[in-house]
Amino acid sequence: MINPDMLKLGSTRSGIRELFEFAQQRARIVGADNVFDFSIGNPSVASPLAVTDAIRSLLTEDPVLIHGYTSAQGLLSTRKAIASHLHKVHGVQAAPEDIIMTCGAAAGVTMTIRALTTGRDDEFLVQAPYFAEYSVFVPAQGGRLVTIAPDFSTFDLNLPAIEQAITKNTKAVLLNSPNNPSGHVSTRGTLDKLAAILSRKADEFGHPIFIVSDEPYRELVYGDIDVPYLPNVYANSIVCYSYSKSLSLPGERIGYVYVPQSAAMANQLVPAILGSARAMGYVCAPSLFQRVIERTVDVLPDLATYTENRALLSDGLKAIGYEVVEPDGAFYLFVKAPNDDAAAFSALAKQDDVLVVPGDAFGCPGYLRISYCVKRATIERALPRFARLFEKSTAP
Ligand code: PLP
Repeated sequence: MINPDMLKLGSTRSGIRELFEFAQQRARIVGADNVFDFSIGNPSVASPLAVTDAIRSLLTEDPVLIHGYTSAQGLLSTRKAIASHLHKVHGVQAAPEDIIMTCGAAAGVTMTIRALTTGRDDEFLVQAPYFAEYSVFVPAQGGRLVTIAPDFSTFDLNLPAIEQAITKNTKAVLLNSPNNPSGHVSTRGTLDKLAAILSRKADEFGHPIFIVSDEPYRELVYGDIDVPYLPNVYANSIVCYSYSKSLSLPGERIGYVYVPQSAAMANQLVPAILGSARAMGYVCAPSLFQRVIERTVDVLPDLATYTENRALLSDGLKAIGYEVVEPDGAFYLFVKAPNDDAAAFSALAKQDDVLVVPGDAFGCPGYLRISYCVKRATIERALPRFARLFEKSTAP
């Protein structure tokens, strides 16, 4: 007998992966240029030059060293560089001991959830739309994902609903801003209100309620948008950061968890998160890329391509008649499905080799996620197809 839960997880793909695999298959038949794959969040811009330069230069160094195991928590020199970056950019008094290098945000979030979970009753709150894998990560670590409907008029945090959903079992709120898939960024004012609610509820129930801030899109914001740094807003914040999107390194699996010293039980949280990593056999984050990050920690992404793509797709779809949620950040458009039937629209679009993800995957039926981290030509050539699809799906 093998573990049925793992068998099920490994035998099925997420809706997003399903579409992504279909796109690969179709590309082999009709040619990659004739497949309009808006399904996945793979950055379409190359890593900044400083990153490729750092990789090249590191490859000339002692291979035993650069490819060797590091300490489980990560190289001290890398954690020092990150701590100093966090101090410079966000003003926090981060120390290398507060940072754990991880295999991306997915590992960081999973390790943190596992470290916080003590029993089946433990609850993690998340507002829709949310990163679909949370519904795998939380139960797999023994907790319960409690989902909250968004405020559809703004996609801002639905604070009254969050307050109502908090129980004595609430361990943490999972927050992802800029959000995948809506692109929404929570403002300082909203986060202050959330912090006040969590502090009040923590006092009422006699234990801390954490915010687990999942931040792979922190630097991907457009215009004058401020992305508040959670540890400056709420003491019990745990930051799960990733370089997957900001430095276009998703396949290299590199990120970190930062536990501010202000967090309750911080001195136990860090070893507990390390314990999770050990229990799951992570060993250490990729050695070469820890060194790359040490050398490129202050490098910012060039947002020109995503900015252009965002305008082209958003303006193009609105001109056709689609209702678009205006994104502050990330590289996704969240679009109201014609006739409110996202699954039907996605299926119809698939027949035309246009791949868009139904919002059901993010706990938000009736919407579609369209990734614009694609080539500009893909958007240009897909717009007439989106127009035909709109006509077809709204025809009487
Ligand atoms: N969290 C969110 C909200 C994401 O959108 C993603 C990836 O798309 C991840 C986590 C996983 O990122 P990583 O590649 O850093 O594990």
